[in-house]
Amino acid sequence: MRLDKFLTECGVGTRSQVKDIIKKGEITVNGKVAKTPKEHIDEESDEVIYNGENLSFKSNRYYALYKLAGYVTALEDRRDKTVMELLPDWVNTKKLFPVGRLDKDTEGLLIFTNDGKASHEMLSPKRHVDKTYYVKLLEEIQDDKVKLLERGVDIGGYVTKPSKVQIINNTEILLTISEGRFHQVKKMMVAVDNKVEYLKRVQFGELHLGDMKPGEVREVDLADII
Ligand code: URA
Repeated sequence: MRLDKFLTECGVGTRSQVKDIIKKGEITVNGKVAKTPKEHIDEESDEVIYNGENLSFKSNRYYALYKLAGYVTALEDRRDKTVMELLPDWVNTKKLFPVGRLDKDTEGLLIFTNDGKASHEMLSPKRHVDKTYYVKLLEEIQDDKVKLLERGVDIGGYVTKPSKVQIINNTEILLTISEGRFHQVKKMMVAVDNKVEYLKRVQFGELHLGDMKPGEVREVDLADII
């Protein structure tokens, strides 16, 4: 991207204001004073500094990961591998964090962003952002239990909001919930005398896991999600 366009998008000023700022030598790219607004920069990897502030990480970014089992959703962990380790080199992980969490043994769609406001919106119960899980059950599920799940079940002092169940067969369902309480899906299955054998998130908001491969990462737009 052209440097002047990048600076405008970062909110430094209008196109003509940022041209003046560049001419005055107030912008450095990777430690060197930028000479022309036409200079091309790589927003992923180049370090652009103005007034002592690193602008490179200002632009909001969103990534979708097909999480593998065995990784904890955390920035750091003393014992376990974290989902951050699943992000490839081309992703600038500085200031990036996962939106919500998937359990260590859960697979599927996990969003990362550096946009705190959007993360809040994606997770806010008020926004009712649907999350769909493929659930493999240990026991066969009956219609009465499906109705209970859809109506709402008590998961230890909290009654879940109405959900949607699509039955694949006796032991496999797709469950869509608009909340994200700790271990919610697993607790919901326990509440109907069942148990999760395998859990995979296949949709987050408007975004589907689709044809993503396990471990794959794709950059997405916020509008693809909510
Ligand atoms: N519900 C769970 O129980 N676990 C997850 O990882 C996600 C939703």
